[in-house]
Amino acid sequence: MTKNILVTGGAGFIGSHLVRLLVNKYPKYHIVNMDNLTYAGNLQNLKDIEFKENYTFINCDICDFMSVKEVFANYSISHVIHLAAESHVDRSIENPFSFAKTNVMGTLSLLQVANDYWKENVRSNLFYHISTDEVYGSTDGISLFTEQTKYNPHSPYSASKASSDHFVRAFHDTFNIPVIISNCSNNYGPYQFSEKLIPLMIKNIFDNKPLPVYGNGENIRDWVFIDDHIKAIDMIFHEGCLGETYLIGGDNEWRNIDLVKLLVEIVDRKLGRKKNASLNLISFVNDRQGHDYRYAIDFSKIKNELGWQPCEEFEQGIEKTVNWYLENKEWM
Ligand code: NAD
Repeated sequence: MTKNILVTGGAGFIGSHLVRLLVNKYPKYHIVNMDNLTYAGNLQNLKDIEFKENYTFINCDICDFMSVKEVFANYSISHVIHLAAESHVDRSIENPFSFAKTNVMGTLSLLQVANDYWKENVRSNLFYHISTDEVYGSTDGISLFTEQTKYNPHSPYSASKASSDHFVRAFHDTFNIPVIISNCSNNYGPYQFSEKLIPLMIKNIFDNKPLPVYGNGENIRDWVFIDDHIKAIDMIFHEGCLGETYLIGGDNEWRNIDLVKLLVEIVDRKLGRKKNASLNLISFVNDRQGHDYRYAIDFSKIKNELGWQPCEEFEQGIEKTVNWYLENKEWM
């Protein structure tokens, strides 16, 4: 069956990888990429597919209810994969309002339009909401997040994502909208905006600039290679059970300070510098307010039910990632 899929936030990091995969892998699907090109959106990410017949880009704010409505009607949207968001925790501390607007009100606007439109145009539909493990707050040194973990967000970013998850479930329970949610840990790979930890560190090592590390650098994050996350989204979109939530993780936890040291080692080697020459660029800065200690995922549900697990070895994924940024300095 053909599908007319609205991907929101398709010009961003994860969205652009997803749009590329869907356009190339499913020529019978029509992919409508809705993005209002904030600082994080970049159409250069999709240059290779911009003229494909099954692809349309629409510059539109997801909060603009009337325009979203028009897009649903004009393109007979049957499925939504919703990624558009304000996504950087530090920015959410500076300006929480923009996070509530896009992440909460924007999600609500999409849900309302989808509900109204799909009521009149009954067929097989899906609203697939892409969320984050940060909604669960911080875990201790032992426990892993599961789909049953209670929400406990600490930053305005994670609070806004948690709120959007609740609205998605509420629309499912109240209006019977077919929904799925997935919550993934930190992604890494090409095309990530250079305010995020890995591209920022690569850029600063290259430029011989300070490498800011929050607090004592002991905070732990789980890292998933972008291609593995995209494969999981593809699988959940096609085979996931309606009304369900799936956690996605990399089984790959790193203390921030160890990750930064690893990047120093790799980038210095690739630039032909003396081993670890850039270690002295590391500079510990005041800890982020509300900084979660550790995110860690138990992804056995998606593994057992859908057969997904991360494939990319971190050592290879991070080498590929560093290579890409060094080869695409103008993009950075
Ligand atoms: P990103 O910041 O790189 O991209 C976000 C995209 O959304 C940009 O293209 C931006 O222009 C667009 N956008 C923002 N506000 C919009 C609006 N009002 N209307 C239309 N478009 C708008 O983010 P990302 O890292 O690609 O994350 C995508 C999604 O995945 C987010 O929902 C995020 O919460 C979630 N997520 C990200 C990670 C990660 O590690 N990056 C992990 C788990 C979940």
